[in-house]
Amino acid sequence: SAPHAVIGRFAPSPTGAMHMGNARTALLAWLHSRAANGRHLLRFEDLDVGRVRDWAYDVTRRDLEWLGLDWDEESLQSSQIARYEAAAAQLDTYGCTCTRKEIQQAIQDSAGAPHGEEPVYPGTCSSRPLSAGRTPALRWQVPDWTICVPDGLSRSVHCQHLRMQVGDFVLRRGDGVFAYHLAVVVDDAASGVTDIVRGEDLLPATPRQVALQRALGLPTPRYLHVPLMTGFRGERLAKRGGAPPLMALRERGEPPGRVLSALAASLGWRVPGEVSAVELLPLWQSFVTDAQT
Ligand code: GLU
Ligand code: ZN
Repeated sequence: SAPHAVIGRFAPSPTGAMHMGNARTALLAWLHSRAANGRHLLRFEDLDVGRVRDWAYDVTRRDLEWLGLDWDEESLQSSQIARYEAAAAQLDTYGCTCTRKEIQQAIQDSAGAPHGEEPVYPGTCSSRPLSAGRTPALRWQVPDWTICVPDGLSRSVHCQHLRMQVGDFVLRRGDGVFAYHLAVVVDDAASGVTDIVRGEDLLPATPRQVALQRALGLPTPRYLHVPLMTGFRGERLAKRGGAPPLMALRERGEPPGRVLSALAASLGWRVPGEVSAVELLPLWQSFVTDAQT
């Protein structure tokens, strides 16, 4: 068969039960893949073993099935560690044994205030011996690049100067856990992902991911960052913040069509009280078009 023009994915972290906000991102990613007749992948981002909950994989699968959001292939980041090691080995890196406190101090001591909103690691360990007895984290010595990423939804362009606004960031933590930024880039390339639909909270992370793609010689997919769902007071929904888990609705017999209708309504889409995911397919394209004004 012909290769699919669009390959999309939903990449949940199995750290808890999905809430309505996660479901909305899952729905939009699915709509984008399927509206283009593309392939759709499910990838569990489960590298941070301390935060992973074993039950969350199955609950996530069942929530997605319940909503009618199917997928063609599933993968786990925890089974791809060798890939991340190989990728990290291709990059210009150094070990860092700084404590959080030392990093704060170094930022204060370095000339000039940090540019971005995030603290910028000033490269302390690139020129000093590692402290014995601490397992080093691995940092990427970032190139002197300004990376600009166009967003396919808002059509705005998000730029960052890596050295000034991000700094040499961690690819592997001291406890051996590979950073999300590296894993996501390696996996999306390995599965041929062409289109990434995800929450706009990840927009600030996108330039460093694009930088990793360039340094590793990997293609850059299209990005569409979708607005996050907020609570009544405009607060971000969080798995730990008491947002009602989807599974609670499922288990109390709520019709999935009603949940999909509520998700669609939260995006300003006019829909009947119950809809199927397939019925929402035509609405995705106008959502994308409207966002691009
Ligand atoms: N695992 C990330 C999350 O749950 C999403 C990563 C991505 O879509 O690139 O927030
Ligand atoms: Zn350091």
